[in-house]
Amino acid sequence: MTEPQADIALIGLAVMGQNIILNMNDHGFVVCAFNRTVEKVDHFLANEAKGTKIIGAHSIEEMVSKLKKPRRVMLLVKAGSAVDAFIDKIVPLLEKGDIIIDGGNSEYTDTRRRYFALKEKELLYVGSGVSGGEDGARYGPSLMPGGSIEAWPHIKTIFQSISAKADGEPCCDWVGEDGAGHYVKMVHNGIEYGDMQLICEAYHVMKDALGMTCDEMSEVFAEWNKGELDSFLIEITRDILKFKDTDGEPLVEKIRDAAGQKGTGKWTAISSLDKGIPVTLIGESVFARCLSALQQERVEASKQLKGPTTTKYAGDKKQFIENIRQALYASKIVSYAQGFMLLREAAKVFNWKLNYGGIALMWRGGCIIRSAFLGKIKQAFVKNPDITNLILDDFFHKAIDNSQNSWRHVVATAVQLGIPTPAFSTALAFYDGYRSARLPANLIQAQRDYFGAHTYELLADPGKYIHTNWTGHG
Ligand code: NAP
Repeated sequence: MTEPQADIALIGLAVMGQNIILNMNDHGFVVCAFNRTVEKVDHFLANEAKGTKIIGAHSIEEMVSKLKKPRRVMLLVKAGSAVDAFIDKIVPLLEKGDIIIDGGNSEYTDTRRRYFALKEKELLYVGSGVSGGEDGARYGPSLMPGGSIEAWPHIKTIFQSISAKADGEPCCDWVGEDGAGHYVKMVHNGIEYGDMQLICEAYHVMKDALGMTCDEMSEVFAEWNKGELDSFLIEITRDILKFKDTDGEPLVEKIRDAAGQKGTGKWTAISSLDKGIPVTLIGESVFARCLSALQQERVEASKQLKGPTTTKYAGDKKQFIENIRQALYASKIVSYAQGFMLLREAAKVFNWKLNYGGIALMWRGGCIIRSAFLGKIKQAFVKNPDITNLILDDFFHKAIDNSQNSWRHVVATAVQLGIPTPAFSTALAFYDGYRSARLPANLIQAQRDYFGAHTYELLADPGKYIHTNWTGHG
């Protein structure tokens, strides 16, 4: 029998799997490819992988026999039951200390379950977020691995070689225990929903309040991309807005305004509700997609429901565009602050030791939310790893101070003109709530006590729960 030759096996020859394999091959690793539909292995070896060191297998047994020890098997298959099906097939062929890695978009709760089940069998399990789409997978994704820490020394070189680099550092580091990698990837996707919604609101206000054309807006996004908003999503928005259909008209204006979603934004919002953390901007972004999806209903409603009579902004256009930029920037700070609040709470609940600066660096390059801004977040956590909230960091605190007049002006104007800006607005409401020493929750406590005897505490005597007979009867 020939010596095992492959450094890692990769199961799943759809676009992500193929590209990660080619990326690993570029970095000198020998990969053994496998797929449920086995014909795809031969097709891949004869086409995309032709002339490379990539090898293939026609059965799971053959794949395992070709692996160096400890064996590393990475799955990039459809999230859900396909992952469990493969784990069940591979486990009997593995030995203590071998490693299974799931690089798909699995729910962190599934990853936790699989991690604990495999731990009992003395196998190592890694759930890794992979972001950056097909291009990222091919030329440098952001990778967020978590699970069995003992696996990290055996996969670190492969993962950090193939990942994107930002300022010379790999956008991949160990995230934390059991489901932490997939949790961080979920929050990343939630933040992506938020960033996209904020950009859409800026576009909506420019288009409706200022009557700007797509070419004009493309120029604005091009300008914004040179400053503190410099990011992949601003860059692609610039390109999308200037893209013309065959008739010379902007293609984007012909696209049906009903947003799709695959669920990771919703999972983030659900997790934030479960944990009692006000991740309001991601929540509003998910709901904004839901509202958009009621497209037919909206078209009908638009014929009956009236808004304000004035729908155009009458002030200085150039100044207002700058106000919108600042509203976007301030809202984005709030969104990331909320995302990190959720990560901090999840770390507490699941007993994870998360490296927040490292997470910001993992998102700094390679992934959809990559931006210069994440470098600032990294710096904030380096300066103070225990900071309660990013908004309290000097840099972000000053940035919000500088933009808040513009932010308030944009939200107020949008409300007056009848343009929905749920993400700008909820970010501002969160900011005003967070900076309020006193909120009206005293009245809620009184109401709860009135109708349900839920008790309340006095400001002057916290920890002591009191019930009052508010009606004076009985
Ligand atoms: P995909 O369309 O999600 O999945 C296709 C792969 O899964 C194929 O190899 C397919 O095998 C296999 N598969 C499907 N159902 C199966 C089952 N019941 N049992 C066994 N195998 C099954 O592929 P993808 O887009 O490359 O994504 C792979 C993973 O990465 C997913 O979890 C996805 O969410 C995640 N991801 C995707 C992107 C992206 O941009 N596409 C980005 C980040 C993460 P057959 O060929 O036999 O059908």
